[in-house]
Amino acid sequence: MKIICIGRNYIAHAKELNNPVPDVPIFFLKPDSSILKNNKPFFLPDFSQEIHYELEIVVKIDRLGKSIPARFASRYFSEIGVGIDFTARDLQRECTQNGLPWEISKSFDGSAALGKFIEKKKFENIQNLSFKLEVNGRIVQKGNTADMVFPVDELISYLSRFFTLKTGDLIFTGTPEGVGPVKRGDHLKAYIEDELLLDFYVK
Ligand code: ZN
Repeated sequence: MKIICIGRNYIAHAKELNNPVPDVPIFFLKPDSSILKNNKPFFLPDFSQEIHYELEIVVKIDRLGKSIPARFASRYFSEIGVGIDFTARDLQRECTQNGLPWEISKSFDGSAALGKFIEKKKFENIQNLSFKLEVNGRIVQKGNTADMVFPVDELISYLSRFFTLKTGDLIFTGTPEGVGPVKRGDHLKAYIEDELLLDFYVK
């Protein structure tokens, strides 16, 4: 399986990192070894001094497809959840400045923390969902899927032009504003609406 992550899909987040808002979705991949699940602790890696959380809505593909028109995209997933796209911001800055690929900052072990998935049919409209991240009981990120630059159906359509989407593939749909660093001992909890889906510690 593969994990596809969208960058700069919320205007306020693109601005906080001084990035332009893209005309087409920006994406990168994480390997399956980056997955952290079952609320297991995230271990800070020794190669970075600045690991940031990025809370994102995650879509789980459950049907094989290629070149999927946006109007049919909703048939290709039935569950959504939350995830943290952990980012070594110091390494990412270095890569960006030097025009290098930034996988080293995005694809390390544990960098794709996944919460519980829920049936999308539970919601009236997945493009109008609030989600939030708490660190040590304080809300640090709050978003609404209505603010996505490219909604999920368009993301699926766009991505499937470049590669076949397969059952089990995950799409991290981008982070809203408010990204920030984690430190040892932090307690992270992520919600869609008021449902707690991810609850773990940084070690
Ligand atoms: Zn991200």
